[in-house]
Amino acid sequence: MTRISEFIEAMPKVELHIHIEGTIEPDLLFSIAERNSVQLPYDSADDILMAQRANGRNGDGEAGLISFIECLDVCRSVLRTGRDYEDIAYRCLKKCHGENIVYAEIMFDPQQGLRQGVSLDALLEGLFSGARTAHDEFGIVTQWIMCFQRDQSLDDACAVLDSVKPYRDDIVGVGLDNPEINDFPNKFSPLFARAREQGYRLTSHCDVHQPNSLRHIRDCIEILGVERIDHGLNAIEDDDLVSLLVDKGIALTGCPTRYVFEDETASAGNLDMLIRLMDRGVVITINSDDPEQFGSGWLNRTILEAQRNGNLPTETLIKLMRNGYQSAWMTSQQRSAYLRQFDQACGAFDWHA
Ligand SMILES: [Zn+2]
Repeated sequence: MTRISEFIEAMPKVELHIHIEGTIEPDLLFSIAERNSVQLPYDSADDILMAQRANGRNGDGEAGLISFIECLDVCRSVLRTGRDYEDIAYRCLKKCHGENIVYAEIMFDPQQGLRQGVSLDALLEGLFSGARTAHDEFGIVTQWIMCFQRDQSLDDACAVLDSVKPYRDDIVGVGLDNPEINDFPNKFSPLFARAREQGYRLTSHCDVHQPNSLRHIRDCIEILGVERIDHGLNAIEDDDLVSLLVDKGIALTGCPTRYVFEDETASAGNLDMLIRLMDRGVVITINSDDPEQFGSGWLNRTILEAQRNGNLPTETLIKLMRNGYQSAWMTSQQRSAYLRQFDQACGAFDWHA
């Protein structure tokens, strides 16, 4: 282990872009499948990786994203009960604690569970219970972001939003994920207007290299009124868009990990866009996205690979990690306390030990 990897591991960190359904470690995935009598088309973690690679031969960009989601769908199809959600939440946060993540905003897709027969009550109670246990055991703080699927209907999303009213205080924000369908910001503008009225914080995926990426990023800001964008790296191609992000203080949650469906050039390109955006003054963070599905890795590995691939100086890593606190949906008191703790840990790290 090198000093730089020890430094990354030692720093208290935040995670702002991680999907709970993409965090299921293989042993847990197979044990949930067995207890729910769900037959997976894979026998091992290696099988899943191979399927993803084969599926991803269609290429990067849109085709890669769609094939990635198809494989993810197979894995998240095992989730059938509230207990499953409780187990994956607890396990995810235990893993996060091992990465020295002290605060996490975790996305979940309620429509996925509903389609598989899990009631909203069971799903939410399960997630919250898993997070409570993890908090009691490890002190890790969690907030939940409810993501709606862009390939599902507006009516369906609105109905789910209405149904979670009793849990309003337990969910910090609303987002959009799944395949990037054309003109999705217009499609979901009534949903976001309603969510804003109810006081939810707002974010949306704008995946990398999708058709109409630039227009989607702009529309998410101007039509949906998002405060953050998940990915959004293509903004670097448009100077006006970069200025808009900076002027409005909209943060990007970047995930420079190389997915199985991407080649080396694509991942190097993602990291390059991320660093150029940061150099232009955009608040950008580094996150793991779907660490277990499929082989993309948890946060420490993501940061270390970015450091190695981009030959990033320590100051850049520190800035990326501090940006996580800056753009987290926490109170300013919490932010100051966490940043003090982070700066102390930075200052105390002995590079020559
Ligand atoms: Zn994501």
